[in-house]
Amino acid sequence: MPGPDDGAAAVLSIDLTAIVANYRLLVARLGGAECAGVVKADAYGLGVAEVAPALHGAGCRVFFVATLDEGIELRGLLPEAEIYVFNGLTAGGVESFVAHALRPVLNSLGEIDAWAAMGRRRGPLAAALHIDTGMARLGLPPAEVAALAEDRFRLDGAAVALMLSHLACADEPEHPMNARQLAAFRDAVRRVAPDGARLSLAASSGIFLGADYRFDVARPGAALYGLRPQPDAPNPLAPVVRLQGKILQVRDVDSDTTVGYGATHRCTRPARLATVGAGYAYGYLRSLSNRGSAHIGAERVPVVGRVSMDLITLDVTAIAPERVTPGALVDLIGPHNPVDALAEEAGTIGYEILTSLGRRYRRRYVGAAAPVAGG
Ligand SMILES: *Cc1c(COP(=O)(O)O)cnc(C)c1O
Repeated sequence: MPGPDDGAAAVLSIDLTAIVANYRLLVARLGGAECAGVVKADAYGLGVAEVAPALHGAGCRVFFVATLDEGIELRGLLPEAEIYVFNGLTAGGVESFVAHALRPVLNSLGEIDAWAAMGRRRGPLAAALHIDTGMARLGLPPAEVAALAEDRFRLDGAAVALMLSHLACADEPEHPMNARQLAAFRDAVRRVAPDGARLSLAASSGIFLGADYRFDVARPGAALYGLRPQPDAPNPLAPVVRLQGKILQVRDVDSDTTVGYGATHRCTRPARLATVGAGYAYGYLRSLSNRGSAHIGAERVPVVGRVSMDLITLDVTAIAPERVTPGALVDLIGPHNPVDALAEEAGTIGYEILTSLGRRYRRRYVGAAAPVAGG
């Protein structure tokens, strides 16, 4: 009988209940500090329209996105939440931030001046202040912190509700950058923190660095979505994503057969190959060519040959034939091959695997999101 996924070659299941469980685990870990939710890049590719209300239903009230557009979209989903925009003010953006009740993360003295000027006209406007303690990416560099310390009046009109910085090496607990950035953050807090501003340093990995790093608000993204916060420790978070590809065709080939574009794989003995409907146009990275693996049940099957646009080829010689038939599903990401493992095979990080998940997969959300309280 035809099922609902018959038109799709691959199915992406996103477990909202697991996201909520991860949120709760982080809340417990934080021992009193507030747990915000980072939902930039469409909630790391998992769908902000589903993920943000689920987090809100779990009690999350503070959210971060990267861009103004993402903030406007999120405001439509969560009328009451505190929404911060990491990229800060862009030219012409001030009015839009005000119109949508979004809070810019102020990354420079110029942005502080623009926001404070607006606040002096309209009444204080909430924002976050970002101090660069070692990323050299966004945020006030040391010279601007010094200038601000000399002239605190510059912030009048800006209601700084949050002062934050971002760690460069939080996934390496022994890295000396962590302590150095912690000290730099504390120093900046001493010099420029406005009265009443809450403090925030930790993203996902930072939460696991210890109590010193937790401050008032943590900003996890990856951990909510099940990625491991520390590569060298067991992952305490629940897996969120399952990605299943459909077997389209199975063939038995002779030794010496080559597979796929470039003939980069040559069978050294007779083999059984399964062709699966997923490829780089789905976000199944081409770097997984001859390196990735899928699972059929608990058994690992290697990707052989190059990943093409719509297809990959698996060597399923070792699997019982009745489990490898056209229409059967194999796990590209699943209980035995988590996102982080696939990322290692691809030579990247789980973040890139998630945010590359294309719109071509049939998406299924598992676990009903609680209704949004208060609107
Ligand atoms: C993306 C981002 C986060 C979330 O990081 P995770 O590692 O996904 O938890 C937090 N803070 C800033 C400034 C970010 O850019």
